[in-house]
Amino acid sequence: MSDDDSDFLRSLGPATRAVRAGIARGPEGEHGEPIYTTSSYVFASCEEAAARFAGDSPGNVYSRYTNPTVRAFEERLAALEEGESAVATASGMAAIFGVCVALLKTGDHVICSRDVFGATAGLFGKYLARFGIDTSFVPLADPAAWRAALRPTTRLLYLETPSNPLCEIADLGAMAALAREAGALLVVDNCFCTPALQRPLALGADIVIHSATKYLDGQGRCLGGAAIGAAAPMDELRAYLRTCGPTMSPFNAWVFLKGLETLSLRMRAHSESAGHLARWLEEQPAVEQVFYAGLPHHPGHALAARQQSGFGGVLSFRVRGGREAAWRCIDATRVMSLTANLGDAKTTIVHPATTTHGRLTAEERERAGISENLVRVAVGLEDVADLEADLARGLAAAEAS
Ligand SMILES: *Cc1c(COP(=O)(O)O)cnc(C)c1O
Repeated sequence: MSDDDSDFLRSLGPATRAVRAGIARGPEGEHGEPIYTTSSYVFASCEEAAARFAGDSPGNVYSRYTNPTVRAFEERLAALEEGESAVATASGMAAIFGVCVALLKTGDHVICSRDVFGATAGLFGKYLARFGIDTSFVPLADPAAWRAALRPTTRLLYLETPSNPLCEIADLGAMAALAREAGALLVVDNCFCTPALQRPLALGADIVIHSATKYLDGQGRCLGGAAIGAAAPMDELRAYLRTCGPTMSPFNAWVFLKGLETLSLRMRAHSESAGHLARWLEEQPAVEQVFYAGLPHHPGHALAARQQSGFGGVLSFRVRGGREAAWRCIDATRVMSLTANLGDAKTTIVHPATTTHGRLTAEERERAGISENLVRVAVGLEDVADLEADLARGLAAAEAS
């Protein structure tokens, strides 16, 4: 695609960008996006080979560096997140690790939300710590705690909003202002909202992270990740990938390209069904409390309503009783899949305290609000009446002790 076409596309609406951005049609005039399953590329002459290797002429060299299908996914995602550049990676964790390795060094300090994805907490707390990069973990929705954790060496603020599984919300504008004041980068994992519902870069974040494995794919088929931001940090990330290797496969990039085409429709449907189920759950006597930012009494509701265009597909609730009641509820469902994944057309249900958050100590879980009676649902695209009936089945089993 020429720069002209790319600028034109970026002036169009998000649904148009999701379908049209990143297409570079080949000489066959194909309408669909081709999958380039090639590890390397042939040059017309030694002169061209030398120029490509030296980086003096644009074009592909080797698929660890660039691949046209991966490039198309990167362009489409950058257009949706309204970022200058996107870099695709082998998984969401590869994107997070890549951003850290590309942009941090020994002696730097990170502040990270306590409620991040488990592997993200491990990445900062265990692996980066070994290389002398220290991380302070703070509550997501407490700006004073973030400010108090600042050090002269703080280089990166890292968060996810909404949080998993309690749907707490961070004020992205306020966090971006704090990062600027501290001379640090604000990195936001936008996995739960996707650009269809929230664009952190427009609110002042420096880098957006994705696990493409979730909603960008939308049907639970492939692992992948991405980072989106200004050209300079993304060039650093690209250089890291070229050297260290966790690149996205062209087949996976193609799956994600097709996933992006239906993203806004899917996110609207996920949000609508999750909202319906959250309101229904609140009326059930077997339910103690429901966590979903779309509910007016949720502490993050006003903020979420301001910075998101929908409340997303993930909700959680506390069943009356303890772990046994929560387990009975989950085990009695017949439509939902008992699995920790999310962002799928298929609804998933899980007991966080003994799965996703099982490695935390009881005290850490208590502090994070992951009680023994908490159940998380990542609402899919089935008929919402069937999902409601499934949860009714679960709650009936929870009550029958
Ligand atoms: C799944 C997930 C990740 C990690 O992504 P992978 O593709 O599994 O490596 C990171 N952040 C969030 C919020 C996730 O849900």
